[in-house]
Amino acid sequence: MIPPAYAPDEARGLWVFLEQEGGQLEGVALELLGKGRELARARGILLTGLLLGHGVEAGARQAIAHGADHVVVAEDPLLAAYTTDAYTNVSARIILERKPETLLLGATPNGRDLAGRLAVRLRTGLTADCTGLAWEEGTGLLLGEVTGFGGGVMASIKCARHRPQMATVRPGIFPLPPSDPDHAGRIESVAVSLEAGEIRTQILERVRHAGVDITRASVIVAGGRGVKGDFGPVTELARLLGGEVGASRVACDLGWIGRDHQIGQTGFVTRPKVALVCGISGATQFSVGVKDAGLIVAINSDPEAPIFEEADVCVVDDLFPVLEALIAELKRRRP
Ligand SMILES: Cc1cc2nc3c(=O)[nH]c(=O)nc-3n(C[C@H](O)[C@H](O)[C@H](O)COP(=O)(O)OP(=O)(O)OC[C@H]3O[C@@H](n4cnc5c(N)ncnc54)[C@H](O)[C@@H]3O)c2cc1C
Repeated sequence: MIPPAYAPDEARGLWVFLEQEGGQLEGVALELLGKGRELARARGILLTGLLLGHGVEAGARQAIAHGADHVVVAEDPLLAAYTTDAYTNVSARIILERKPETLLLGATPNGRDLAGRLAVRLRTGLTADCTGLAWEEGTGLLLGEVTGFGGGVMASIKCARHRPQMATVRPGIFPLPPSDPDHAGRIESVAVSLEAGEIRTQILERVRHAGVDITRASVIVAGGRGVKGDFGPVTELARLLGGEVGASRVACDLGWIGRDHQIGQTGFVTRPKVALVCGISGATQFSVGVKDAGLIVAINSDPEAPIFEEADVCVVDDLFPVLEALIAELKRRRP
């Protein structure tokens, strides 16, 4: 066994890495603070946010309002934009000094990059893409729930001997906690020792992603193989309902719609108020991305389709005339 960087009995507290963009915390950081608050309360431990960046005071206050007891802030112009070397080096130094018991990160592109790098640097384990987090009864170890073996089974993973116990969670898995401006917490600035020479990459250009964000949509109309390449009615219905278009992986693989729209294990996890799922069979890998919708309406011509086990409203029919009728009715009401 590789010796741990620090012993479990030296480790204290639950930490959340607070990913930020332009000083504002990413949604997943707030979601993790919400879940972290619940987990910390259950064991009577402190919830600490780790915030790296430059000009991030507002983000630290945002973290306190969303449940952090304490925010450790490392500010430096070299941390203004994410780079693997700078963020790994600074985070690892702070973690080795403060010895958190648990560290949660968002499974965003940067969060995933940092988590993998940190786990190696800290010689600990990492449970990636958790769909649930809980304390194990008796031991108090973190249990990360993941879909395994191609999505066919749910597995609980723990890290018994190394610290911090690390997990990443994708955006949208946990709800956004409410903001409480009266919640009290401590913001602590720590000195950063970082040399430009430690950073092997140089950012030449930043390009803002112009695609859709289905993780924040309150209405989603999703299409799968059953739309047979024609996303017209699905898109029209989504537009009339003020929602976004979602898709199964098959529909994306076939090039009918962009990858930004993919719902599921290898796509996005969504939690809309209403999801209309059209011509999608409802494989576990798809359903994991829509199961927390407030209301699921499934339209499928196969009465045995697994999606009907998840759906609140089941329409056994050809999706095209059903969508046509819904579109006509909405247009009649709101021309
Ligand atoms: C590791 C791994 C990760 C994966 N990740 C994802 C993921 O993130 N997201 C995802 O979606 N999939 C994912 N998959 C694939 C997943 O297992 C399924 O293959 C996929 O979700 C099926 O897509 P579908 O429902 O569109 O197609 P199908 O399973 O082919 O279902 C099409 C459905 O359309 C219905 N239908 C056909 N014509 C009509 C009609 N005219 N009207 C009404 N209904 C009609 C059929 O009855 C059928 O139920 C993953 C698989 C693996 C192994």
